[in-house]
Amino acid sequence: MSKGILYDATLCIGCKLCEKGCAERNGLPYDDNVAAEQKQSEHKLTVVLTKNDKFMRRLCMNCEDPTCASVCPVGALQKTAAGPVTYDPSRCMGCRYCMLACPFSVPKYEWSKALPLVRKCDMCSDRVAAGKQTACAEACPTGATKFGDRDALLAEAKERLAKSPDQYIQHIYGVNEVGGTAVLLLSSVPFDDFGYKTDISTEALPLLTYRVLSHIPDLVTIGAVALGGIWWLTNRKNEVAAAEGRPESSKP
Ligand code: SF4
Ligand code: SF4
Ligand code: SF4
Repeated sequence: MSKGILYDATLCIGCKLCEKGCAERNGLPYDDNVAAEQKQSEHKLTVVLTKNDKFMRRLCMNCEDPTCASVCPVGALQKTAAGPVTYDPSRCMGCRYCMLACPFSVPKYEWSKALPLVRKCDMCSDRVAAGKQTACAEACPTGATKFGDRDALLAEAKERLAKSPDQYIQHIYGVNEVGGTAVLLLSSVPFDDFGYKTDISTEALPLLTYRVLSHIPDLVTIGAVALGGIWWLTNRKNEVAAAEGRPESSKP
C-alpha cells in the first residue's frame, strides 16, 4: 500500500524538530541560522513557515504522478510503489529540467558545489523501505506530521474535517492537486497564505502533456513540441530564477 504524510497545521507548534530530523537524516548541517531560514533550499529540504501564530510545512509533495520524473531524460527521478519519489544522483546529468517542471518549485540545485546535485525530500525512501516512519514524522512531538498508509491518512483527514468543521478550511490539499500527492495538508487558514497554489490542475501534469501531444498531427509535432517546450521552459526558468532570487545570468 502506498505511504504518505499527513501534516495538520492546526496541531503544529512551530518547534521545527521536523526540520532538524530531516537535516540529520539527510546529513545536512542544522543550527540556529538554518532554523531561521524561511525557505526550502539545497541545504534545507523542508521548512516550517510562520505567519503570525500560524505554521505551515513545505516539502516535496511526492506526487502520485510526478512531473519531475516525467521530464527527467535519464530516469534519475522515480515514483516508487511505496510512495516516495526518489532521486538517483548517479544517473543525474544536471540538466535541471525537474526544477523547471515541478509545479511546487521543490527541487533545488547545489549551485556552489563543484559536483552539484539536485536536492529534494524523497519521503525518506530508505526508512520507508525498512518499515520505518519518516524522520520528520518521528521527530514531531505533537502528531502534526504523521506518517502512514495514504488511504488511512486520507480517511483520518476527512474525519478531522467532519468532526471539527470550524477548525479547518474544508479542503485536504494534495487529494486532487496535480492528480494527487503522497503528502496531504490540513489547515485553518487558506493554503495560498503560505504560497500553495490553489488554482492548480487536478489532473496529473504528465497526463496533460501526453494529451496535448497526442492531439498534435505527426508532421508538426516535433516543431510544435520544441517551440512549446522552449516557451514553457523559458517561462519556468524565469519563475525558478525569481523564486530562488538568482540574477538573470545564473538562471538554469
Ligand atoms: S512536488 Fe515536484 S519534485 Fe516533488 S514529486 Fe512532485 S513534481 Fe516532483
Ligand atoms: S520525509 Fe524525510 S526527507 Fe522528506 S521532509 Fe521528512 S525527513 Fe525530510
Ligand atoms: S515537529 Fe511537528 S509540531 Fe514541530 S514544527 Fe514540525 S510539524 Fe510542527
